Amino acid sequence: MLKTRLKIKIFGDAVLRKKAVPVVKVTETHRQILSQMAQAMYEDSGIGLAAPQVGVSEQLIVLDIGEGLYKLVNPRIVKKQGKQSISEGCLSVPGVCVKVVRAKQIWVHALDENGRFIELEAKNLLACVLQHEIDHLKGKLIVDYLSFLEKLRIKRKLSILKHKQFNSA
Ligand SMILES: [Zn+2]
Repeated sequence: MLKTRLKIKIFGDAVLRKKAVPVVKVTETHRQILSQMAQAMYEDSGIGLAAPQVGVSEQLIVLDIGEGLYKLVNPRIVKKQGKQSISEGCLSVPGVCVKVVRAKQIWVHALDENGRFIELEAKNLLACVLQHEIDHLKGKLIVDYLSFLEKLRIKRKLSILKHKQFNSA
């Protein structure tokens, strides 16, 4: 296992906008990345993290809303039901909170870290976090849900983030 701590990519980094590729075969490398992602998520007090957020453009996510850790490979939403609106933050968009309307209940197909097929039924916060992380795999971020006026309002904040990112790159 690598000792180096994974660095969270911040808004403005192109990897966050790339579509993550599906994992063809789950290997030891994927299990290591998933473990490191979980570690980074806990260290930053997050409740979910997707691989693009650590610069890996593959379909891997981890989440823990306080009910146990999930490590999922190639997660797919196969059914959605109802609506909920939760104010969401994102480790890649620090300081920005966006109220996002998502399905209240979802059914997900995925592989576990050993490559075994699993089915998951989630509702409320767990469903919300799953949808947020699966969005990351599509290159979608919470700011994409902002209305035109809200976008204008936080545009300055985001451009400062982008600027910081380019300067540190
Ligand atoms: Zn996020």
